[in-house]
Amino acid sequence: MVNENGIVIGTQNHKKRREIRSILDGIPFKLFELEDFGDPPEVVEDGVTFEENAIKKARELASFCNMRVMADDSGLEVDALNKQPGVLSSRYCGVDTGYEEKCRRLLEELKGVAIDKRTARFRCAIALADPNSLIFVVEASCEGFIAAEPHGVYGFGYDPIFYVPDYNQTFAELKPEVKNHMSHRALALKLFREKLMELVK
Ligand code: IMP
Repeated sequence: MVNENGIVIGTQNHKKRREIRSILDGIPFKLFELEDFGDPPEVVEDGVTFEENAIKKARELASFCNMRVMADDSGLEVDALNKQPGVLSSRYCGVDTGYEEKCRRLLEELKGVAIDKRTARFRCAIALADPNSLIFVVEASCEGFIAAEPHGVYGFGYDPIFYVPDYNQTFAELKPEVKNHMSHRALALKLFREKLMELVK
């Protein structure tokens, strides 16, 4: 039976919403959009971990919607840069700097760093909260390397410079349907789905 109390998808990013709906297809909860609740507040992402930011977003939006909300936070960690840009991925080199430039600057910073030292990972945390408390949070990652130069046309953000050895391609060379099966977000969403199903056992 579908739980009519449901869950609000706490993002206004259409691509993310489509992926979330696709992976959560068949769960016994009705999924709502943030827009169903009016103009949501801007949540300040000032946590030092992806988990902290996801929890903060889920909790603040759950208070606003007066309903259970799921919210995520994700980004890229580069080991040779002391795990930067991390939670600052979308603000790296300034919020208004485009991703071509962000990728270029990141490659510049890694100039001279040997391929085996260019280890990196995308992380994604997803939290579920109700208006009073956190219900659970999950996190997953996808390991790779920062390529020597950008490759590929698909995806967004840092995809052209994130090389995945198992596929011998960057995220931007992988067809979206492939990336959406093995990405940090896909893995976190699968964990999220499992946790959710435990709630209704
Ligand atoms: P947020 O989770 O929407 O706050 O995203 C944080 C930032 O991390 C994005 O703006 C991108 O810079 C980066 N990011 C997260 N996931 C991906 C991905 O799958 N590909 C490329 N960049 C990503």
